Amino acid sequence: MKFITLTFGCQMNYADAARIRSMLQYIWRMHVSKEEDADIIIFVTCSVREKAEDKITGRLMTIPKHQKIWMTWCMPQHFIKTARLLDSKKTPSLFKIGNFLGKAKKWATIVWRDSDSVATSKAKNVIPVNYAFNPLYHTLKTTYDNIELFFRIDDTWHLPSIVRALGYDIGEEKSQSYDEYNEIIMQPTTMHTQATTVSSFVPISTGCSQFCSYCIVPYARGLENHLDPEMILTQIRHHLDQWVQEITLLGQIVNKHPQFVSILEQIFAMESDLKWLRYTSPYPTFYSDALIKLHAEEPRLCPHIHIPLQSWSDTILKAMHRWYTSEQFRSMIVKIRSLDRYINLTTDVIVWFCDETEEDFLKTLDLVDYAQFTMIYIGKYSVRPGTYAANHLKDTITKQEKEERRRRLNECFMANAARQFQQFIGQTHEVLITHVSKQGAKGYNQYMHNIIIPTCHDKTLVGQFVDVVITGTQWLHLDGELLSKSIPKKRLVVGIKSI
Ligand code: SF4
Repeated sequence: MKFITLTFGCQMNYADAARIRSMLQYIWRMHVSKEEDADIIIFVTCSVREKAEDKITGRLMTIPKHQKIWMTWCMPQHFIKTARLLDSKKTPSLFKIGNFLGKAKKWATIVWRDSDSVATSKAKNVIPVNYAFNPLYHTLKTTYDNIELFFRIDDTWHLPSIVRALGYDIGEEKSQSYDEYNEIIMQPTTMHTQATTVSSFVPISTGCSQFCSYCIVPYARGLENHLDPEMILTQIRHHLDQWVQEITLLGQIVNKHPQFVSILEQIFAMESDLKWLRYTSPYPTFYSDALIKLHAEEPRLCPHIHIPLQSWSDTILKAMHRWYTSEQFRSMIVKIRSLDRYINLTTDVIVWFCDETEEDFLKTLDLVDYAQFTMIYIGKYSVRPGTYAANHLKDTITKQEKEERRRRLNECFMANAARQFQQFIGQTHEVLITHVSKQGAKGYNQYMHNIIIPTCHDKTLVGQFVDVVITGTQWLHLDGELLSKSIPKKRLVVGIKSI
């Protein structure tokens, strides 16, 4: 049995795909890099926006019938929760014995494809990997007959039993090596697959309990769960021992972990060749002064903060159930900009949320100008079934207005980005090369600026840190020239003034 994982959505999904690969390779399943070589295509799905789901269903259509499909994460999990929320009377009562609240440790028996035996069994011994629980399975199965399995991501550590239950011969029986999902030691992984040897994501918390009114994450991924610091540090040590030099800590609200700053400090105290430590995504009100200060004091803590803003209108923030005010956000930006170190700020904005007026939108434009973001991921608001906004708020903005606001926001932040990029010309930056294309070698620096070296097409540099002198700025990236390969173990020295 050969398999491949197809990952959609955020960094967390990429980390989870790595856990699935680790688990299946543990039972001697072969991970392949080409889709056509795989017997099983594992979709690690995303439901955050309707567009993401459309992309996945479009992708399902391209899978030939002789290949089996497995699906996990947000799409199946959001669908089952939504069905339960929207119409609990019609939803099979079997949902109620599901372990969708993350109690996997308590369940022992795998039940597969036989809903009757689930119904008659004692609920305490069931892991519902069974598609009979999930209405989405039935919807998709009529079109895509080769779908074989839906499984909860938290049940990844049960994959050896699930694979056996599916009828695959996994040879000599492997004993269970993990007691729970978060213990699975995963391979280094990033979204830049070609650079996996030096970079890795490490989740430090899962789920979210904020319940922003537009967001499906708490429904699809469950409530927040902060991982044990010891477990996190074991993962980190594992990666550092494999010479991973860039680590990104992950969490839906990564800085809400009660020991967040302490975890960072313990990582920096480890003897290692770590160059860059990042984290994503933080939430404004969980920024402590200690964390902001650490950005100035510890050169390996990257000078890049991706801090989701969403809106700078207090009315809209309230409607979004974002539990901060525009003033709180502004004072956080002031603290960051007062540091004696330049921090690249990027953000997420939803500009057309429900009743957003022109006045609300202008406030967001003001903040974008004030904070000097160099990149904004502009979310096109789409109603997600089951959320508070879907049930209680109206989307009154016309298509034309939405497009107009997107264009104006783009123009505003791109002018800011172009101004900031100018200051880097002539400087030397350490760049991690992620891939090489006709345009040249591409990568990013510690600020997370995209950098292209047009004169370099050396594929052996992928996954390496190189010194690059910045020669120019383009649309949303910097151009540079290769100086030399960085000397391993070199500690990063930053010499850029605060703006
Ligand atoms: S903080 Fe809000 S937007 Fe972010 S994952 Fe949680 S509910 Fe969703």
